[in-house]
Amino acid sequence: MTDNKYSKIIEVIKKARRFVVVSHVNPEGDAVGSLLGMYLGLKGMGKEAVPYLEDQLPPLYDFLPGSKDIVHTLEGVKDIDCTIAVDCGQADRLGDNFSSFKEKGVFLNIDHHVTNDNYGDVNLVVPEASAAGEIVYDVLKAAGAEITKGIAINLYTAIHTDTGSFRYSCSTPEAFRKAGELVSAGANPWDISVKVYENYPAARFKLLGRTLSTLEFMNNGGIAVMHVTLEAIKSSGGTKDMTDGFVNYARAIEGVEVGVLFREVKNNEYKASLRSKGRIDVSGVASLFNGGGHAHAAGFSIKGTLNEVKAKVVAELEKALNEQSAGQASRLSNEGTR
Ligand code: 5GP
Ligand code: MN
Repeated sequence: MTDNKYSKIIEVIKKARRFVVVSHVNPEGDAVGSLLGMYLGLKGMGKEAVPYLEDQLPPLYDFLPGSKDIVHTLEGVKDIDCTIAVDCGQADRLGDNFSSFKEKGVFLNIDHHVTNDNYGDVNLVVPEASAAGEIVYDVLKAAGAEITKGIAINLYTAIHTDTGSFRYSCSTPEAFRKAGELVSAGANPWDISVKVYENYPAARFKLLGRTLSTLEFMNNGGIAVMHVTLEAIKSSGGTKDMTDGFVNYARAIEGVEVGVLFREVKNNEYKASLRSKGRIDVSGVASLFNGGGHAHAAGFSIKGTLNEVKAKVVAELEKALNEQSAGQASRLSNEGTR
């Protein structure tokens, strides 16, 4: 942690009294954990804070301390000195209603997405952080907040989920170190794992079965594509947030470099999720469709029929894979001439 990068943020937080804390639509573990960790940290420092999410909280995160305080409207919220966005690369992902909230005060952007476009008045973007929860932890400690058990549970959940349970390449020594400190501060790894990964409603598995049956392979097995329709969600008795993690099954197949999931949002509109094993940076492909994310995990919204969106996205992925192979081949032949 370099002090000057953090000092401006700390200065603003110390001075402000009334806060809104916000994260992105379709919230997942890092979004919710970072939001609530920051919220509880601010309260512990004697500040007033409103934790806001435009979307409903997926029920699986109800166990997180502070989750009952989350609000879904900012109507009547005023005299705010500072608004802190966590885990969000683009302001429009904070939600359509949030964008009409004008009394933000100083707008702080705390995030770890490489594709972050620095939309805040003050931006703290740390792409090497495994989760926004890591950065929130550093900020709270630097601001002198006490890391309570409630904060530890939230920030551990943020790091645990964004590292894929400490499997992904972002699982740095720093991520392990912080997770260890959070366990010392009261986060219980097994308890959190059970609540996040071993407590799914049966409907999720019905929906997963339907989704797996849509698997298709392209690019000689290098790209695996699945889709979820609104009808499948409805008839399995599930909800859209239950599809979180499905795309990983596509990537987990032998020979697959990129897994793709298209989730129908409404007629002729899909949410795309991309997962790469590492040969290509899928955040670059997502950026072509006005989305973003990380090298291994990225997403975007796209309009068109299922066949149209599939064709467009697969074409870009094939291009990226072919360019990568060509680059590798020319590197190898250069090495050969040395
Ligand atoms: P997921 O596929 O799980 O929804 O998201 C994977 C990653 O891509 C996350 O880091 C998420 O923040 C980012 N992401 C997903 N959808 C969008 C989007 O519509 N816009 C941007 N900028 N990033 C997205
Ligand atoms: Mn994150």
